Amino acid sequence: MLKVQDLKAAYGRVSAVKGVSLEVAEKEIVFLIGPNGAGKSTLLKIVSGLHRPSGGTISFAGAEIANQTPETICRRGLVLVPEGRHIFGTLTVAENLFLGTTIRNDRAQIRADIDEVLAIFPILRERYNSAAVYLSGGEQQQLAIARAMLQKPRLMMIDEPSLGLAPLVIDQVYESLRQLNAKGMTLLVIEQSTARVTDLASRVYVMRNGKIVLHETKASLGDGS
Ligand code: ADP
Ligand code: ADP
Repeated sequence: MLKVQDLKAAYGRVSAVKGVSLEVAEKEIVFLIGPNGAGKSTLLKIVSGLHRPSGGTISFAGAEIANQTPETICRRGLVLVPEGRHIFGTLTVAENLFLGTTIRNDRAQIRADIDEVLAIFPILRERYNSAAVYLSGGEQQQLAIARAMLQKPRLMMIDEPSLGLAPLVIDQVYESLRQLNAKGMTLLVIEQSTARVTDLASRVYVMRNGKIVLHETKASLGDGS
């Protein structure tokens, strides 16, 4: 579904991505792991059209997207949940979710879509009429993912969903990722450590200093356990 080949990018003279190739197949959940500064966010920004690559190709669902605008890429079904939970604190959970729905849907469809999302994120049902600013970090992360889901992406990319969360809360967020994937959503997830990815991952890439230094598939991940 997504195929990145020999991607390169720089900020001025600082090279951040140095010839990265990776792929995500339909219905997979793929992790891109690496320490701070490895180039992971730059890679996601390029794939979302927010930063121009200096070389390489990106094919998504059969189309070349390396130099398309973020709007076009989003409309093709590739949606990014950026690091830091970009939700509207003064709006309620309900209002944040409605903002994620597409304008072409009718109200009955929007209700059905929101019900489907609330089934995966039951905590949001309990907090439906709370202002998002009163949600815990984990709840805000789930709201950000839930809202992205309402755009019905073909591939959702999530930048560090566990950032700043307590271990038990990370478990809840990961449980919702598992359910999302079980419903057929294809996911590309960025994290700094492999701590909790191995039981979920179809594929893991480890990135360091602008390069992929390790690629493991489900089969090879299963070997050690
Ligand atoms: P990661 O997401 O893995 O932490 P980044 O993609 O954010 O890595 O950063 C990769 C490299 O690019 C780092 O050396 C970082 O300092 C640099 N970098 C990231 N964003 C910018 C920017 N806006 N301007 C200049 N350098 C940047
Ligand atoms: P409107 O106010 O525009 O008529 P609602 O907010 O009542 O729309 O409903 C939108 C969707 O969200 C419906 O599918 C509804 O079932 C669901 N919903 C509304 N309020 C809640 C709630 N407190 N808890 C769970 N689901 C809710």
